[in-house]
Amino acid sequence: MARDPRYDILFEPVAIGPVTAPNRFYQVPHCNGMGHRHPRRHAAMRGIKAQGGWGVVCTEEVEIHPSSELTPYIEGRLWDDRDIAAMRLMTDAVHAHGSLAGIELAYNGHHAPNRDSRLPPMAPSAGPVIAHDPISARAMDKTDIRNFRRWHRDAALRAREAGFDIVYVYAGHDMTTLMHFMQRRNNRRGDEYGGALENRVRLTREVLEETRDAVGDTCAVAFRFAVDELMGDDGIAADGEGREIVEMLAELPDLWDVNVSDWSNDSVTARFAEEGYQDPYTAFVKSVTSKPVVGVGRYTSPDAMVAKIKKGQLDFIGAARPSIADPFLPAKLADGRADEIRECIGCNICVAGDNRVAPIRCTQNPTMGEEWRRGWHPETIAPKASDDPVLVVGGGPAGLECALQLGKRGYPVTLAEASGALGGRLNGETRLPGLASYGRVRDYREYLLRQMANVDIYLDSPLDADAVIEFATPHVVIATGSTWRRDGTGRTLHEPLQGIETLDTQKVLTPDDLTGEGGGAPLGRVVLFDDDHYLMGGVLAELLAARDGTEVTLVTNAPLVSAWTEYTMEQHRIQGRLIELGVTIAANRTLSSVTRDQAQTACVFTGRTETLAMDTLVLVTARDGLDGLFRDLRTRQENGGADHIRTLEAIGDCLAPGSVANAIFLGHLAARNLEGEPWDAALFNRELPEISL
Ligand code: ADP
Ligand code: SF4
Repeated sequence: MARDPRYDILFEPVAIGPVTAPNRFYQVPHCNGMGHRHPRRHAAMRGIKAQGGWGVVCTEEVEIHPSSELTPYIEGRLWDDRDIAAMRLMTDAVHAHGSLAGIELAYNGHHAPNRDSRLPPMAPSAGPVIAHDPISARAMDKTDIRNFRRWHRDAALRAREAGFDIVYVYAGHDMTTLMHFMQRRNNRRGDEYGGALENRVRLTREVLEETRDAVGDTCAVAFRFAVDELMGDDGIAADGEGREIVEMLAELPDLWDVNVSDWSNDSVTARFAEEGYQDPYTAFVKSVTSKPVVGVGRYTSPDAMVAKIKKGQLDFIGAARPSIADPFLPAKLADGRADEIRECIGCNICVAGDNRVAPIRCTQNPTMGEEWRRGWHPETIAPKASDDPVLVVGGGPAGLECALQLGKRGYPVTLAEASGALGGRLNGETRLPGLASYGRVRDYREYLLRQMANVDIYLDSPLDADAVIEFATPHVVIATGSTWRRDGTGRTLHEPLQGIETLDTQKVLTPDDLTGEGGGAPLGRVVLFDDDHYLMGGVLAELLAARDGTEVTLVTNAPLVSAWTEYTMEQHRIQGRLIELGVTIAANRTLSSVTRDQAQTACVFTGRTETLAMDTLVLVTARDGLDGLFRDLRTRQENGGADHIRTLEAIGDCLAPGSVANAIFLGHLAARNLEGEPWDAALFNRELPEISL
């Protein structure tokens, strides 16, 4: 299809210093948990983005020296010449598709405890490292500053040698020494590098000039700068020193890459910020500099992108998460397929991968991180191995993804869903506060499935084993989902909650009840026990606290509300919101027993108990896979009653209840593997240590 002319402006080439980007789609630096440990995997991921039309594709932070390294987090590395070859894998992969490759050189100062190199961290002024390690950074003296400048220059030369077109000077996210020098709170120096703003900016100016001098004839020099730290006068602010810094350095870099800091403000989840949330802070930059500007804001809508360019706020549409969710976003626009864009839902599961020191994964894009290891491509999949029909039972995330990929492979697919709508758990969960964007997981897949001539969708079709056998398909995939437990068992309680049998059933609720349609009745004094620790406990507390006649006490044995959301960088916002809503938080306490109108909690450290008055108990503890149908069919198979079923597989929550990302991944995996080789570790590409015998 032809490109919609409204989007032509997004496909204009733009010069950046000595290089030219083929269009305005700019994948800004983003972490991915692969970096120096998985260079082939990393290069393949970046190469796919270039193939998908991103005109500029950047690395994540790249450490320039062992005196600032982020172990256990896995970033890029250019410590010395031995690292060049691994980085070249990426530039080759990006150049193969005509895009520019950018590298974000990083020196993290007192953000880096140097857990591996064990070298003492350095900072503008002495003080404890930001990570909770029992070590302080020492203040950099003039020799240290000279060394740092030399290391940065050397790294820039190595970056050019590795083939990069854009070399970053990085002062974003409250993570780098250059930013620390500029911040009043981290720079208490009395020399020419401290005090007045001009002095605090001195090192950044020197590094920008030296980078330009070293590589600026052939490489563009980009400056990534957080113009606002969202801390008012305590930090850099767009209406204060942030703007002054842009004014001071306006023409020095070839490109301004601007954002807000810290990372949790830069990559806010959809629950807490809309698309374009950074505009109020970054919009001024273009009026101060003549150099091109890139900015981010979880842009997935092409109309919003065009508006940014036309209004003269940005020259490039920067994206990390939208390029992760859909590496082919630009290509789809170029082909007139805007309706096929797989939009980021703003869940930050990608960030959680990095924060858990695991390679990146994405809720919307199950191929993310698997490009080299499993050889998966986000847009293509092997054609069917036979004409055998497949029955997929259950139209939640797992069933939808599996049916979609099987449909793409060309199999005749039947998707049977018990309820009147596709979407499974998403249909209830998207009604919860701030979770509407999760509906994109369903909508993207349903939209494509509905257009496939080889896919039949049956709603209101609960199937039992007899019905499945009647379908007579040789391949059956069961994606029947999960249900929340009602007895309090989970991570903490291994036996049903003491006294639960004495409560009326309507006094005990689970997320399955509260995410359903209707509701809204006052629940009196609610005790919500969260032993799950991800989103659900916190979001239900938020839902109920806003309900008239309802008071909520959230009991959790974790130290924080929705503790796992620390990895998605939402935890502090969730807890703050609940406090504002008047939710009582009983952390580090477990639920030990209940009576008709009381709940007893126990301190996880001392066992000391307290009693709470209670009208309603909400249990967010654990989910059980609804695998009854799968087990029935397996038994029939084993007893010779379903011989025509050649493959029978359970996927998603019915197999292993988990995140939506997990269900999508398992659905995708099953579709890729159908009629393929049985799984074996040897099918995984692995980067093995080089050992010469
Ligand atoms: P997942 O995250 O694994 O996709 P969900 O719970 O979101 O799981 O979705 C499971 C879907 O399966 C639900 O829409 C549910 O209505 C449907 N389902 C469950 N049992 C059956 C069945 N026996 N026949 C057809 N559909 C079913
Ligand atoms: Fe977007 Fe979530 Fe994918 Fe990250 S994991 S790119 S936030 S959909």
